[in-house]
Amino acid sequence: MDRLAHLDPFAGHGGGLSDRSERMRPAGPPRVAVIGGGWAGLSAAVRLADAGVSCTVFEASKSAGGRARRVPWTLRDGRTIALDNGQHILIGAYRETLTLLQRLDIDLDRAFERTPLHLLDAKGMRLRASRLPAPWHLVTMIFTARGLSFGERVAIASLMSRAKRIRWTLDGDRTVAELLDGWRQPPGLTHKLWEPLCVAALNTPIGIASAQVFLNVLRDSLGGARSDSDLLLPRVDLGHLLPDAVTARTPSAFRLSTRIQNLSLGADGVAVTGGTATELAQPEPFDAAVLALPPLDAARLMASPALHDPAFKPLVAVCEAFVFQPIVTAYLRYREAPRWPSRMLALESAPHVGHHVQWAFDRSERLASDVHHATPASGQGLIAAVISADGPHRLLDNDALVASIARQLSTECGMPSQALETRVIIEKRATFASTPSLPRPDVATPHPRLVLAGDYVGEAAATRHYPATLEASVLSGRRAAEALIAVLDP
Ligand SMILES: Cc1cc2nc3c(=O)[nH]c(=O)nc-3n(C[C@H](O)[C@H](O)[C@H](O)COP(=O)(O)OP(=O)(O)OC[C@H]3O[C@@H](n4cnc5c(N)ncnc54)[C@H](O)[C@@H]3O)c2cc1C
Repeated sequence: MDRLAHLDPFAGHGGGLSDRSERMRPAGPPRVAVIGGGWAGLSAAVRLADAGVSCTVFEASKSAGGRARRVPWTLRDGRTIALDNGQHILIGAYRETLTLLQRLDIDLDRAFERTPLHLLDAKGMRLRASRLPAPWHLVTMIFTARGLSFGERVAIASLMSRAKRIRWTLDGDRTVAELLDGWRQPPGLTHKLWEPLCVAALNTPIGIASAQVFLNVLRDSLGGARSDSDLLLPRVDLGHLLPDAVTARTPSAFRLSTRIQNLSLGADGVAVTGGTATELAQPEPFDAAVLALPPLDAARLMASPALHDPAFKPLVAVCEAFVFQPIVTAYLRYREAPRWPSRMLALESAPHVGHHVQWAFDRSERLASDVHHATPASGQGLIAAVISADGPHRLLDNDALVASIARQLSTECGMPSQALETRVIIEKRATFASTPSLPRPDVATPHPRLVLAGDYVGEAAATRHYPATLEASVLSGRRAAEALIAVLDP
């Protein structure tokens, strides 16, 4: 059936849609539209290009990178430094992401500060994995921990061994709070350790977070090789990590500031259309497309009038069911760099006393990445303060939020009571909420030439579900590309 009869965007692209045997593909490699230039779309584009497919990446904003992108900040002294849309941290278990970066000749040792897993809070709690092979790196971490009672250390060991015994697979999902309660974790330990870890990893409060997804993260980070649990803190901005490397390879493949508003499908291809005022006002035909968008945007396109295929209804409903959690990242510049025992500190989130920040990062080296001056502003400090997930901080206006963050950094981390200047970035839909038994679409759609990629896309098995992370995005992008390569046979 020719679903595109009224548009016929494929005319001049090899003839009619319905009878492939009658048409010849134009000479040259197959053409694929990658819609969305976040890390999922970039990962798909690299894999497709490696297979000899010609890709065009359509990105609505003026730069690639999506939620993991560079944000410039012009300081009061006139210098412009590169921040990130949000403070990101990777772990050694992010194999897909690290392999992709290496594939693009990124020197991982220069791009990241890599340290064994450690967790230090401002009150003196200290967990630090040793350099011994697994599982001894964790055994030593637990039993040399500071700021935890003997009972709390035993409770951590008991949770880990119980999770291993059940092969990290729950018989029915539940919330993280229910799991911790059922597995007899002391409330003090939950507050000090499990709650901040869950919010950091899943960006979802423990009362609604999926215990299975939390176990998946613990399995891949703590249950694997020692290096899997390493923390990788980017030394360069996120734009520099992946988006710049991909756009530099094939600048002509990128159509930035181009929002796709309609999709139409034919038996042998996909046509994409932008707004009426754009150069893409008429449908442009491709052999296939990757929808590398957040779930609601993907749903909107799959429900677009031009597509009009009832077979997509269940998939659209799954995508529309995602709900989201925010992340606040506040960057504060100080006259002096902090003298902390680690670049990353866990803070005590206590909203009743106006303490909302959960993590603080020393990003002072960013002041050295000034694009106009060769030398860094000596000794100056830059802190990234992070508030993940929903909470009472959302009721504060910007000034009150900034004041409360500065107060907390002063009380807990010894910073001066006021910063020289502050930049707050609020991502209202930072990630989807990783809730129990959340249905996740896989890459396939009802049409073999249209596939999905994005951090929300996952395989059917719940034990393969990841929270919204760079790793989930990059993995889905590769899998989406491979699904199309199998169909297009370039
Ligand atoms: C503040 C913050 C902190 C985070 N911290 C971490 C962390 O520490 N570690 C970690 O692993 N992950 C972290 N994440 C999550 C991670 O950034 C995301 O999971 C990942 O970037 C999602 O990539 P994506 O490609 O799936 O989606 P996106 O990045 O959302 O990319 C989708 C792209 O599609 C574009 N688009 C939308 N509609 C259209 C359209 N119609 N036409 C064309 N283009 C369109 C958008 O502009 C966007 O660029 C964090 C996220 C945030 C926001």
